[in-house]
Amino acid sequence: MAQQDIFVTRPCIPPLEEYIDQIRPLWESKWLTNMGDLHRQLEQALRQKLGVDRLSLFVNGHLALEGILQAMELSGEVITTPFTFASTTHAIVRRGLTPVFCDIKETDGTIDERKIEALITEKTSAILPVHVYGNCCNVEAIGQIARRHGLKVIYDAAHAFGVKLNGKGIGSFGDASIFSFHATKVFNTIEGGAVSFRDPALAPALCEAKNFGILDEETVVFAGGNAKMNEFQAAMGLCNLRHFDEEIAKRQALVTAYCQQLSGIPGLRMLRQRPGVRPNYAYFPILIEAEEAGTDRNTLYQALRDYHIFTRKYFYPLITDFDCYKDQYAQTPLPVAKKIASQVLTLPLYGDLGLENVEMICHAVKKILCK
Ligand SMILES: *Cc1c(COP(=O)(O)O)cnc(C)c1O
Repeated sequence: MAQQDIFVTRPCIPPLEEYIDQIRPLWESKWLTNMGDLHRQLEQALRQKLGVDRLSLFVNGHLALEGILQAMELSGEVITTPFTFASTTHAIVRRGLTPVFCDIKETDGTIDERKIEALITEKTSAILPVHVYGNCCNVEAIGQIARRHGLKVIYDAAHAFGVKLNGKGIGSFGDASIFSFHATKVFNTIEGGAVSFRDPALAPALCEAKNFGILDEETVVFAGGNAKMNEFQAAMGLCNLRHFDEEIAKRQALVTAYCQQLSGIPGLRMLRQRPGVRPNYAYFPILIEAEEAGTDRNTLYQALRDYHIFTRKYFYPLITDFDCYKDQYAQTPLPVAKKIASQVLTLPLYGDLGLENVEMICHAVKKILCK
């Protein structure tokens, strides 16, 4: 039994003094938002950290995704995954595009690249896969499919900050990738996000997309929204970036302990990263095969709550089962996504969780499953 409630995550926060020092200059400059000095500094630092050439900050990850869809002037259908957070599909729909759902893989929960081509029609304009939990998609195969059919590839890399594949930053694959810096993500700016992108010609359109379509003082070129990151967010980002590697190292130790202590339990399975990936340990999902485990995911979820351990069913329900999307779009078969959504449970994970809590959580899981 946990002494205190244990939640699935807790945000990283720098020492208060460090943040105060970071925002102190704003009391002099009075420049609080609209691409100020801290915004410029963070954008530069993140280009380096993420290993990408071009990056544009946004007020949150969701509007970064809407922004890039707008800047690319996409239309028609977008092939995507139902096993993700609401934002991915909402961005497609809110931009007037039609989502086409593709099944996922058992191994890592990312889009099943072998099932993409069958979904391509003459209306398809892009593929929008998700590096779900920071698990890296098959970017090579997806890139080949996109080239063959003249499609754009935009990755939802909201979970994948700091992930590398064969030494390359995850944001350097595809035509663009969006990141989320929400408080619950591995790296946060309180709320925040960014898009990395390949084509330099997209830069002005992205600037306009987050600032009312304003090109200069007297020229407004389209109906853009307002999605600018402010200086207080950028300051939080600059501080948290200094502690990021330390946070990841702590998470790595916790994940190693989880894996050791939860291996060999009948009916409990973990997802796998593909080879060549440097992970960011953003989440720790487990899968419960009810028949083998003798207990289903929902029972485990509830029983852990009784121990004051608050897990989350990321990602259940599937997007296609949301009230707002049910029976709305073409019904493609999604057997794997349905199965994984019914089995998955994301266990608590954050740098300061502590090895003793991991041990306690594993003990509780075993007690519930092996009774
Ligand atoms: C968090 C998240 C987003 C949205 O990011 P915000 O910064 O919260 O707007 C988009 N996609 C996925 C998969 C996410 O988890």
